[in-house]
This record gives sequence, structure tokens and C-alpha cells, in this order.
Amino acid sequence: MEVIDKRWQIRSIRRRWLDENPDDPDGISKKLDELNLDTATENDISDIMGNVFWTVVICEECGSFVQKGMAFNTNDGYQTICVKCLREALARLEAIM
Ligand SMILES: [Zn+2]
Repeated sequence: MEVIDKRWQIRSIRRRWLDENPDDPDGISKKLDELNLDTATENDISDIMGNVFWTVVICEECGSFVQKGMAFNTNDGYQTICVKCLREALARLEAIM
């Protein structure tokens, strides 16, 4: 598991794009190569990707947009869970232990 935030989303975007789009339609990966992903803004990324969903952090349990989340490895990549859902999960577990 790993903590992720918007910068993590930006730094990992080229790999995530190619994982989902191995044919690299529209030469997106080449456009991303021209950016410094340590300093690129969300707008820089959304201008290339055509939407904002590549940089936001969304909890896959409750659907909330959050600043940070914990990413858990899955067979399909990773699943991000927010602090609120993690606390609820822990409380449920502790209640039965
Ligand atoms: Zn959540």
C-alpha cells in the first residue's frame, strides 16, 4: 500500500496511461514526456488528457474526492481508499475482535 495524492497522480500518469492504453492513441505519452512531472500542474495534465480525472484522488469505497488516499494493490492495479473509510473499516474490525 502507498499514500497517493495529486502529485503522485501526476508523476505516475505516463505509466498509468500506457497501462490502460498500450497503443498510446493521440501520442499522449509523447506529450507527457515534454512535461516535467515534478512541477506540472493539474491544468497542464488536463490540457493533454482532455479531462481532470487523471489527477484527482477519488475514494473507490465512498466516491469522495479527497486530497490524499491510501492505495492498495489489487490484481487490476490499485484501489484508493480515503481516511474516513479506512477509519470506518478499522472500527468495524475492532468491534468484532
Ligand atoms: Zn471513502
